[in-house]
Amino acid sequence: MIAIDDLVVELDVEAGVVRAIDALALTIERGETFALVGESGCGKSMTALALMRLLPENGHVAAGHVRVGGEDVLDLPEAAMRGVRGGRIGMIFQEPATSLNPVMKVGAQIVEAIEAHTALRGAAARARALEWLRRVGIPEPERRIDDYPFRMSGGQKQRVMIAMALAAEPDFLVADEPTTALDVTIQAQILELLKDLQREQRMGLMLITHDLAVVAGMAQRVALMYAGQIVEVAPADEFFAAPKHPYAQALLRALPGASRRDTPLEAIAGTVPPLTGRFAGCRFVERCAQAMPHCATTPPALRALDARRQVRCLLYEPGAVPTRRAAASVPSDRPDAAARDNRADAAPEDSPLADAPLLDVQSLGVRFPVRSGLLQRVHGHFDAVRDVSFSIARGQTLALVGESGCGKTTTGKAIVQLLRGVAVTEGRALLDGRDVFALQGPALLAARREVQIIFQDPFASLDPRMRVFELLEEGLQSLHPALDARARRERIEAITAQVGLRRDALERHPHEFSGGQRQRIAIARALAVQPRLIVCDEPTSALDVSVQAQILNLLRELQRDTGVSYLFITHNIGVVEYIADQVAVMQRGLIEEIGSIERVLGAPQTDYTRTLLAAVPRIALPSV
Ligand code: SF4
Repeated sequence: MIAIDDLVVELDVEAGVVRAIDALALTIERGETFALVGESGCGKSMTALALMRLLPENGHVAAGHVRVGGEDVLDLPEAAMRGVRGGRIGMIFQEPATSLNPVMKVGAQIVEAIEAHTALRGAAARARALEWLRRVGIPEPERRIDDYPFRMSGGQKQRVMIAMALAAEPDFLVADEPTTALDVTIQAQILELLKDLQREQRMGLMLITHDLAVVAGMAQRVALMYAGQIVEVAPADEFFAAPKHPYAQALLRALPGASRRDTPLEAIAGTVPPLTGRFAGCRFVERCAQAMPHCATTPPALRALDARRQVRCLLYEPGAVPTRRAAASVPSDRPDAAARDNRADAAPEDSPLADAPLLDVQSLGVRFPVRSGLLQRVHGHFDAVRDVSFSIARGQTLALVGESGCGKTTTGKAIVQLLRGVAVTEGRALLDGRDVFALQGPALLAARREVQIIFQDPFASLDPRMRVFELLEEGLQSLHPALDARARRERIEAITAQVGLRRDALERHPHEFSGGQRQRIAIARALAVQPRLIVCDEPTSALDVSVQAQILNLLRELQRDTGVSYLFITHNIGVVEYIADQVAVMQRGLIEEIGSIERVLGAPQTDYTRTLLAAVPRIALPSV
């Protein structure tokens, strides 16, 4: 159905020409789910855009062919291509806001797709649109069909877009991170729907995702991309059971899970090389734990191992002698002394406080005012969190899991006191026996020092105009006013080393760093004030697997060295299993279930926890 041959895509950027895709070849059969996986910037989305002829303005196809049903779409006039797009080939992108027309009702947009690509018209097309809204899980579709996109949540808009793509009954669907913005239960529903459609209509599917667990549950075949090239193609079950390429092995080793609790995750050192230059040898050589001397000078070709598997690695050339060196580790210049210096003043093990919880939350309620009208008068209240109680011991981690809007982030923000003046908070949050909600003045300042927060998007939480040093110094100045300039600098330099950043990072701005490095800066900023508890709000969910492994390792090391406790908000059960001691499951502002990881994940007691766990895509971690 789809045959891509020797595709080369180039982008003109300030630094020169980026070869975003290099000699890519793949085929996808009718009815097949083919997953394209890899970390950010490896060329997955660019492959989809080239297939749809939707490359950005600075991009062009420099060579190759893209055949759809035998016809090279690169040769088609744009008018003909418009019929292919949305008709023969449907597409779902991650960002629904850019794909829906904001001034057109959602139902009308779906009807338009149906009328353009099927024989249905008028009332029949509207009835079909309604059916699609129902199938993608939009509640009350009869009412929502006449809503404008702005009245829908992000997840609902995503589902409308999926309905629009599927309503045209395409032969082939390109889905680029189709469920990343959705909650797990809706994600499970959408993935199931895609599977059904494939069975019914023999629709081909190119699934592009960084979520390997989704791939494991959906795909028949997998292609792994690295630095613009495919480095391994394999049937999905064989790929996950026994990956061949060292990069594939490293990615799977970096995944967190229960079986890896007792050891640091194997993060992949280094970063993807820039694609502006030419490569003399293997693109993965700098990061490869099995590199041989000639890997730096001989570019490997994609080689067939058998009829179904291909790999781009010199280890599989005849006569290759593997020289396995120590697994690549992430360089960190953390001096142990710095780690000790930052030790939060945790209670010594023999003190009476050692057994008492660090944080004891009792009957927490958070109520937001509901405003409306020109004067924004308060018309009522919305209970975002109700009667929530839990405790966290020193040096321990409690994970808070649940779907969006269940109250987990609100709970975290209430404890960090970010909701003062915004919402009404009830109940008590005892930090070492003192109720932080009742504190005022200097006592409140001291409590703010002891509880810090790290957000999901490090970029949004760091002022782009400030240098890293200033970002770290800001908190110290307000929360540790007694420290003089020299003491502040010393502490900042020690913490920078502790989180694995080089000292010259202090003079740079946040935009000069990668996502993982920015998250390290956010962690350093939280640590600088020597907190005893850090609320981690989805700190790794925007990161690639290998960077996630680095951040999880860092958080665990810091906990071991400083005795800091974490309230860890996440939807990733693998992360929970790896990092947490206890887990609380939240739904509609209430804690449904709380207990040890083994108990709650191993033998859930409530229907909701069982449903949530069943919806989470899982992957059996291979022993690679
Ligand atoms: Fe590693 Fe060499 Fe294979 Fe590249 S060719 S992945 S450097 S062993």
